[in-house]
Order: sequence, then structure tokens, then C-alpha cells
Amino acid sequence: MNDLIPLHCPSCGGNIQVENQLEKIYCTHCGTQLLLRMGSDGLLAPLIAREMAASAGLMEAQKAQITADLLQKQIQQLEAQAQRIRHDLLQYCRDNQVDGWGRETKGLKLVNQYTRQVTGSPQLTRDILRQAVSKNPVTGEWNYHLQAVEALNLPALTTAEDMYRLFQFVLKNTDQGKEARQVLAILQPIASIWPELAKKQQEYGNAVEKMAGR
Ligand SMILES: [Zn+2]
Repeated sequence: MNDLIPLHCPSCGGNIQVENQLEKIYCTHCGTQLLLRMGSDGLLAPLIAREMAASAGLMEAQKAQITADLLQKQIQQLEAQAQRIRHDLLQYCRDNQVDGWGRETKGLKLVNQYTRQVTGSPQLTRDILRQAVSKNPVTGEWNYHLQAVEALNLPALTTAEDMYRLFQFVLKNTDQGKEARQVLAILQPIASIWPELAKKQQEYGNAVEKMAGR
């Protein structure tokens, strides 16, 4: 036989009696669903169920917000690392366009084989690189400004995922010699950066959905 504990309904103030083993009751006066919780004072206290649910939902949303903020920072850092790799790759391509016989180097050729495979046409040809060139008015020398090269519209050579796909392509073509290995060395860090970035982006998407309460 359980003791009956006299309490007041927090919604209507009416007297209610509850068994101490119960978790969920309805007020006999106003019908409000109540949850019984042990307070920090060790006494049983009735709480309005829908308010509990609302505050639990709010806490979930706040937690998701903190998670999303943290993930966003981590994503930005990984994106910056990927862009650094792209910068190094484009610098290499700018500085290694032609071999001793004036032909496109094997390194640049490899990059263009990859872009042709993805987009249907080579994307980093010497003609395209020439768009980023300017003549020094004093010395008359042609300068390939790296910033201008980086600003070119280069399909398949832009995002972190692009760098990862290029890395995998070059990995399959290391038999192309020294230049292939040089390009591979530049791209190597993306092997761990891209999977990590993709995972964080997925987690970020989940956190944003939770924030919206979906
Ligand atoms: Zn009530």
C-alpha cells in the first residue's frame, strides 16, 4: 500500500493526492498533465508536463547551436587548409608550365588530364594561365601574378573536394615520374583534410536541423 501525498496542482492550485511511485498524473480539477519530480529538497513536486517538454526542447536547441558554432569554426579551418593546398598547387603550375623544350610540363599535363576527365576540357592550360599575366612596364617582363591565377574561374580546381579528386587522380598516375610525385606531395595533406571536412559538414547539417527543432 502506497502512501498518498497531498500536493497542489501548479496549474489551477487545486488539492491533489498522488502516490509517491507515480511519475505522470492528471489534475483531478483542471485535467492538466503533470509530471512528478523529486526536487533538490527531497520533496515530490508536480510540474506541468508541456512546460517541461518545452524547456527540454529549448535545451536541445541550445546545445545544437553550440555544436553548430564549433563545427562551423572547424569547417572554416579545414577549408582554409584546403585553400592553402590549392594555392601551392597553382603556384607549382604557374612556375612549371614548360619544360626545357618549350612543351607543357608533365605536372601541368597531369592536372589538365584530370580536369578534362571531370569537366570535358582542360582547365589550366597555358592559354588560361596567360589571362593572369601582365607586362611589367619598366622591365618589359611578363609576370604571372599568383593572386590573379587563384582568381581565375577554374572548374574542378576550386573546392576542397576538387583537390581531393585531383589527389586521387594523381595517386593513380605516379608512374608519370618525378613531376607527378611533386604534385602528389603538394596534394598529400588533402587525403586527411577532405574526409574530415566532409564529416564535419554532415554533422553541421544535422546540428542545424536540430536547432530548427526538426
Ligand atoms: Zn489543476
